[in-house]
Amino acid sequence: MLKQSIRSLFNEDQLNALGKTVRRGSTWCDETIQKALKLRLACGTNGYNLLLDSGYPLPSERTHRRRLENINFCPGVLKEIFPSLGRKVQLMSPLERHAVLMLDEMSIKPALEFDASVGRIIGNSTLKDSQNKEYSLTTHALVFMLGGMSTHWKQTVGYHFTGPSFCARVVKEVMFDLIMKCEELGLSIDTVVSDMGGQNQALWKECGIIGGKYTKTTNYCEHPCDVNRKLFFIPDTPHIMKSLRNHLTGHQAITIPSCIVDELGFICNEVKVDYVEQLFEIDSGYMDELGDDENNSLFYLAGRTVRQILPQISGCYTCEGAIEGGDELSDVSLLTELKDYTGSSLIKPAKSVFDMIKIAERCLRDQRQSILKGEISHATIISFVSEGASGCDLPTCHNVIGKLITNYTRTRFHLSESIIPM
Ligand SMILES: [Zn+2]
Repeated sequence: MLKQSIRSLFNEDQLNALGKTVRRGSTWCDETIQKALKLRLACGTNGYNLLLDSGYPLPSERTHRRRLENINFCPGVLKEIFPSLGRKVQLMSPLERHAVLMLDEMSIKPALEFDASVGRIIGNSTLKDSQNKEYSLTTHALVFMLGGMSTHWKQTVGYHFTGPSFCARVVKEVMFDLIMKCEELGLSIDTVVSDMGGQNQALWKECGIIGGKYTKTTNYCEHPCDVNRKLFFIPDTPHIMKSLRNHLTGHQAITIPSCIVDELGFICNEVKVDYVEQLFEIDSGYMDELGDDENNSLFYLAGRTVRQILPQISGCYTCEGAIEGGDELSDVSLLTELKDYTGSSLIKPAKSVFDMIKIAERCLRDQRQSILKGEISHATIISFVSEGASGCDLPTCHNVIGKLITNYTRTRFHLSESIIPM
């Protein structure tokens, strides 16, 4: 049993290295190198060296540098990563293999430099510009990245250096080539995501994507791998949200086709900002009149909060006794209860915890304007809630109330630790 779990933790070469007193001269397999590289990126140089010093069987920083030198990171398709990406894809479920291709542009400092590792001058653009001119000084990097649709994974698959503009036709070719290479690995790329910068709009146009007030919108073109498939183009989420907001607050209507209304059982076919405003009103409504659904969601969140803090207070009889088990709430739906019972133990928030969560919820609702505007910090919210919760019925040892508040507010809202000036 122990042997098995050690084997799942370390690769064969790592186990060999553990047996040696001197690590130098150990040979590492690609898998170990990759695993170690992830660790190195996650903990930084200091953290990684600490792991090495404490005797973890990992390759040295020098080994990493030497291995990375051999990898070709030249502009274009990153050919070297495709074999390992292919292996990753083999382990994915069919659903996981659906991915979007994201185009991201970042500005870089223009400079010409001699790169000794490839033995030539770098800093010139690697794509023609929109006037079809070759080689200008690089000002931007255009990065092609895959992103999983059903699960969270990302992989950069190519990049190019460009000047202030790029030739849409060439980028289209690069993009289609990339999509075909990815599909060869077994991935399904049906969507291209980019922001709505002028260059990207030129690319859309090149692919036949058009949309405007007086034209019928075309948001797909023929898929490069199959004439019967479609390749869709969508702007990135912030742009979708922004366009939607402008559209709705300008009181322009969106009408949903009747087939979708029927299929999803919507109560009407109109999308209006009024409904969002109504939701906002409900959300800010009086707390004692919570509906069943609201009560259940709150109860579920309370359960999650309790689960999060249990490990921190385990061992204290007063704390544990006060929050575990608890009174049954009569009107909890089956689904909510099932969610509470995930994991190995049965955890339900006690009535006192639930009351406390209601206090926190009330406080969050009172502060909703400041929260949405990003004007209030997490610390401030916590101090507000603590004030409101001072008279509540929970143990005072082990900062149970404080921990509950911190975890609940984090679960409920994403609040910045400090206030970033807008
Ligand atoms: Zn305690």
